[in-house]
Amino acid sequence: MSYQVLARKWRPKSFESLVGQDAVVRALTHALDANRLHHAYLLTGTRGVGKTTIARILAKALNCEQGVSSKPCGVCSACQQIDAGRFVDYIEMDAASNRGVDEMVQLLEQATFLPSVGRYKVYMIDEVHQLTAHAFNAMLKTLEEPPAHVKFILATTDPQKILVTVLSRCLQFNLRQVSPPQLSSHLEHVLAGEGIAPDIKALELIARAAGGSVRDALSLLDQAIAHGGGTVQADQVSQMLGTSNISRMLGVLSALVQGDVTAVREQTSQMAAGALSFESALDDLSRLAVSLQLMQFDASDGAQEFSSLAEDDAIQLRHLSAQCSRTYAQLIYQVATKARGDLRLAPDAAHGFLMAMLRLLAIHPGHASVAQPKMAAVVNLTSTPAEPQAIKPAQHDTPRKETPQPGVPAATPNVSAPAEVKQQSAATDISAESWPQLVDRLGLKGMARELAQHSAFLSFSEGLITLNLPATHRQLLMPASEQRVTQALSELLGTAIRVRFDVVEQVGVTAAVLKKEAAEERQNNAVAAIESDPLVQELIDVFDAKLIDGSIRPVTG
Ligand SMILES: [Zn+2]
Repeated sequence: MSYQVLARKWRPKSFESLVGQDAVVRALTHALDANRLHHAYLLTGTRGVGKTTIARILAKALNCEQGVSSKPCGVCSACQQIDAGRFVDYIEMDAASNRGVDEMVQLLEQATFLPSVGRYKVYMIDEVHQLTAHAFNAMLKTLEEPPAHVKFILATTDPQKILVTVLSRCLQFNLRQVSPPQLSSHLEHVLAGEGIAPDIKALELIARAAGGSVRDALSLLDQAIAHGGGTVQADQVSQMLGTSNISRMLGVLSALVQGDVTAVREQTSQMAAGALSFESALDDLSRLAVSLQLMQFDASDGAQEFSSLAEDDAIQLRHLSAQCSRTYAQLIYQVATKARGDLRLAPDAAHGFLMAMLRLLAIHPGHASVAQPKMAAVVNLTSTPAEPQAIKPAQHDTPRKETPQPGVPAATPNVSAPAEVKQQSAATDISAESWPQLVDRLGLKGMARELAQHSAFLSFSEGLITLNLPATHRQLLMPASEQRVTQALSELLGTAIRVRFDVVEQVGVTAAVLKKEAAEERQNNAVAAIESDPLVQELIDVFDAKLIDGSIRPVTG
């Protein structure tokens, strides 16, 4: 016996065995059992969700020799002939095919004649929006004054193109895309029937790749069985589909959260070498970001289900959810979904993917303005991902305590910082570290403010404050500005002081530099926050809006 493809072999023959269309099945079952039948139905939905299957079951339900019911017997000659596609009173037409227009018109015109063997003449017209005008008029004529023995089942993937004159005469049902979990469990059922041991991870990969279509899922399963020589296994399926798998992307996510640029590069190279799809990798990363965020909001059950995580993967993700800030989870999602659309613009998919990951590392709240040596430390630390010390954000927060950053969605709330600053300001001690805050409190404006900001504190003794000004900012040195700085400092300290500016080549680690770094970090965080804002994203996506460089300012004060 020749091999029959699964999609055909497992085509549901009854409403009960139909996958994922409960609402439609309920409505049709009810109508059939209550004998409240409409003369025309319109089934809408993407390919492979069951439009033709429903039409055939409906044709059997109407023509079964046991009588009209929602449960056709399946064994009488009418049922069997419809299943085999040989029933004379069930006419399937595909308006998208090249079938002769004349033939079609003729078939439709014959609708007025009584059925030859059945109770009803059932017309199934697929892709009905593509009917020629001539054929369409023939159908419309019948639709307007339908003979009692005719039923129309119209189907389309594009309901927008159906004329309102047709819509108004049909009972419309929207078939849904079948969800991956539903598909996956259907595939499991099919494999059991085929006597093949199911590998759940493999089935999940197929289910996701099928894009909501039962037919596509079964075709892929066919291929997977052929590919695996009679078995179905996750790595083979992953290879066949060219898709990433969730465990690998979990590794990428972990590297992102921990700021591990080396690991990100390695994963990218491996994916490129395995010719895996970077699109599906970004999809998986987006899914993981959603699950991660759900876990952060204590909705763990849904989180695991959403990414179809295995137990050990779920444990790892929960671990990560504790290390990653909520804002960063948002950023990962935003960047991953955006990057997916940008892949086609990239020189190649691997570079597009890598750049998106580097972008995520660059805007990591813990690393935003991290200088080179610190980055090295990050990479070293994360070579052992299981170590609890890999919880980075807390470590990076430590040096920031002296420069609190208003407006920054802090990864870990830094409760002690404001208290420290208050204490400091009460005593008004001047030091290289306190200088940036002090400058802010001087209330200076214009050039005088510029001068103070670009100066570094050197010393304060015997009423003389010495400040270093980098030679690059020499032009700020003007008597009026100097005088205003002196006056403001005197007022703040409550005593008359003198100020001397020393112009130097290198200012080293100075107040100005510290301040600039803090500002950069605030800026980066502000940019990240704006970019991750769903409304902003929507404006960008929908209206092709652009963020104007330099227009984002962190909230201060
Ligand atoms: Zn029957």
